[in-house]
Amino acid sequence: MPPTLPTSGSETIVMFKQVLSDLEACHQLRRLRPIESATGPVIQLEGRSVILLASNDYLGLATHPALKQAAVAATEQYGVGSGAARLISGTLPPHTELEAALATFKGTEAALVFGSGYLANLGLIPALMGRDGLILADRLCHASLLDGCRLSGAELRRYRHGDVAHLQSLLAKRTSSRKTLIVTDGVFSMDGDLAPLPDIVPLAERYGATLLVDDAHGTGVMGASGHGTLEHFGLKDCLSFHMGTLGKALGTSGAYVAGTADCIRYMMNRARTFLFSTAPPPAQAAATIAALAVLQTEPERRVRLWENREHLFAGLKKLGFRTTDSASPIMPVLIGDAGRAVAIAERLLQLGVYATAIRPPTVPKETSRIRLTVTSEHSKAHLDEALAALKTAGQDAGVI
Ligand code: PMP
Repeated sequence: MPPTLPTSGSETIVMFKQVLSDLEACHQLRRLRPIESATGPVIQLEGRSVILLASNDYLGLATHPALKQAAVAATEQYGVGSGAARLISGTLPPHTELEAALATFKGTEAALVFGSGYLANLGLIPALMGRDGLILADRLCHASLLDGCRLSGAELRRYRHGDVAHLQSLLAKRTSSRKTLIVTDGVFSMDGDLAPLPDIVPLAERYGATLLVDDAHGTGVMGASGHGTLEHFGLKDCLSFHMGTLGKALGTSGAYVAGTADCIRYMMNRARTFLFSTAPPPAQAAATIAALAVLQTEPERRVRLWENREHLFAGLKKLGFRTTDSASPIMPVLIGDAGRAVAIAERLLQLGVYATAIRPPTVPKETSRIRLTVTSEHSKAHLDEALAALKTAGQDAGVI
């Protein structure tokens, strides 16, 4: 028997259909594409082996034996679930150990773990800012940062992407006593370029503004030791706190804020997405502790990641693709029209390469792109095969 439709809320049912068909008409309808294997440089998708260029598992840690063993051991010892929010009875030994390890990693007094990066940003920003405040956010910053800004009730102004002069003019215009937060990604998730932190940090200091750098894509990747985008720029000890995620280069899931003991106690008491959400599973915390150790003991992963990044980026340029000012393992190929980007992604898949078309609202209109990411685990042969597929797909579509 087919399921019967509810009789109440019929307008909502009509709305579902209408919105879905509108999205489809403008090539913005998304659907799940379940992969049929573990993640890695090559995956099984729709019954075939394809090269994956769409993962944020930059160092291949999601399938690293040390992380898997740590997760299994913690599950054996502590069970699968944490049973409650952290402040109730959900704080287990792996959580405390992970927070100590993250504080050491970031060189701070303390750290606090959130269930995801999205939750961290939704919790941190309203904890810092209220209706009377002003937030200045990069136009291309991540959706979770924007949603955190909106939730805080503070006035939100967006400065042009990476435009320090625009940011400065907004800072100069406000009443100087007004509480101000500057918000930016460290590495921009859809463009792969970096925030101009060497200019933003002194500006924030000069105008007495707090700076929140979301280092989701910098953590584990940027800087000689993988400490993040600030390390990359040689900027040390200049932020009141750090934020990054664990589900990308660290191979697990969740996010952290690291700062002074007072900052962390404050967030523990004020960040509602920490207070009112079940603690992450002990396996997640234990695996992340192992990931932090691997960052130190296997620096060659970062070396391979950057070699692969250079190889692919040079190849894209040589083929004549339009790219961004990427300075990270995220390398978008700019297409423009959403339908065209989707068609190219489909062609790439036929040719054995899985990379996703990124469309509005994730990116601004007419800037649809194929977002390519490399990891340390791709071989040169994978990348050359991918470049050959990109050449064919690009030529078929007339973009190169
Ligand atoms: N910030 C940035 C810059 C991101 O790219 C992402 C993930 N796409 C997040 C935050 C959210 O992190 P999570 O996936 O852990 O929720």
